[in-house]
Amino acid sequence: MSYGIDTVDSVGVVGAGTMGSGIAQVSALAGYDVVMRDIEPELVEDGFDAIEDSLGRFVDRGDLTEKEADAVVERIEGTTALDDLADCDIVVEAAVEDMAVKRELFADLAELTEPGTVLATNTSTLSVTTIASATDRPGEVVRLHFMNPVPVMEGVEVVVGEKTAEGVVDLAHAFAEEVGKTTWEADDKPGFVSNRILMPWINEGIRAFDEGVATKADIDRGMKLGTNVPMGPLELADHIGLDVCLHATETLHEELGDRYKPAYLLKRKVEAGDLGKKTGRGFYEYE
Ligand code: NAD
Repeated sequence: MSYGIDTVDSVGVVGAGTMGSGIAQVSALAGYDVVMRDIEPELVEDGFDAIEDSLGRFVDRGDLTEKEADAVVERIEGTTALDDLADCDIVVEAAVEDMAVKRELFADLAELTEPGTVLATNTSTLSVTTIASATDRPGEVVRLHFMNPVPVMEGVEVVVGEKTAEGVVDLAHAFAEEVGKTTWEADDKPGFVSNRILMPWINEGIRAFDEGVATKADIDRGMKLGTNVPMGPLELADHIGLDVCLHATETLHEELGDRYKPAYLLKRKVEAGDLGKKTGRGFYEYE
C-alpha cells in the first residue's frame, strides 16, 4: 500500500472537545473537508462554538477575514454517527483518554473505513501499539499528538507503534505539516517525549503548592520568569484539564513507577470536580 498526502481530501475527527474541535479547525483551515463526530448533538455544538470563538480571535487580530472564517466552519460537518467517517482519507481520534473507549473506536473505525485510510490517535499517554492491536490493520495506526490549544501551538509529536508502516509514519508527518505544524518523532514508550517530561513538571508544581513552598501565583511566576515558558505548571494544568493531567500521571505511574505518583491535591481537585478552565475552577477561577 502506498500513502500519498495528495490523495488526502477529507479528514475525520472523533471527539469534539478541547482537542478534537481544534484539530477539526486547523484541518478545515488548511482546506480539507472535515467530519467531526461526538456522542451527543450538544457536544458537537459545543465543538462548533469553540471553533467559532477561536476563529473570531483570529479575525479580531486581522489574521483571517470574516469570509475566510465562515468558509472554515462550512467545511466542517458535525455528526454523532461514526459511520459518517467511512469515506474519510485520514481519521484523527481525540475522544476521552480511556483505553477501552479508544480500542472500541479503533476496531469500529478499521471496519468501517477502507484499507489505506490512516487511523491516528491523539492520546496523551496510552500505547499506540495497544490501541492498534484492537484493529485488523495495525500498520495503518499511528499517533498524531497535537498540542493544546491546537490552533495556536505549532508542535505535533508523531509516535510510531510496533506495527506502524513506514508510509503511514511519513503520511502522519506530511499531514501535520499540511495543517501548518512542525513535527518530531518518538517511539511508543510511556508518555513519549512530551508528556513523560511535562507531567512530572506539572505534578511537582502541584506538590510544591500543596506543601507550602510558595503561593500558586509565585510558583507559576517563578517558572515563567525562571525558565522562559509561557505558562507555569498550575496555570498549564488548568488549561489542559486536571482530569486529563491526573489520568496521564496515573498511566505514567503505572508504567514507570513511583517517581510519577500523582500529587495528593491533584486527586482531591479532580474528585471535587474542579477540573480547571473547562469547569470554571481549578487552581484558579475563570469566568
Ligand atoms: P475533552 O474531554 O475536552 O473531549 C473529549 C471528547 O470526546 C468529549 O466531547 C467526549 O464526549 C468525546 N467522546 C467520548 N467518547 C467518544 C466516542 N466514543 N466517540 C466520539 N467522541 C467521544 O478531552 P480533550 O482534552 O479534547 O482530549 C482528547 C484526547 O486528546 C485525549 O486522549 C487526551 O489525552 C488527548 N490530549 C489532550 C490534551 C489537552 O491538553 N487537553 C493535549 C494533547 C492530547
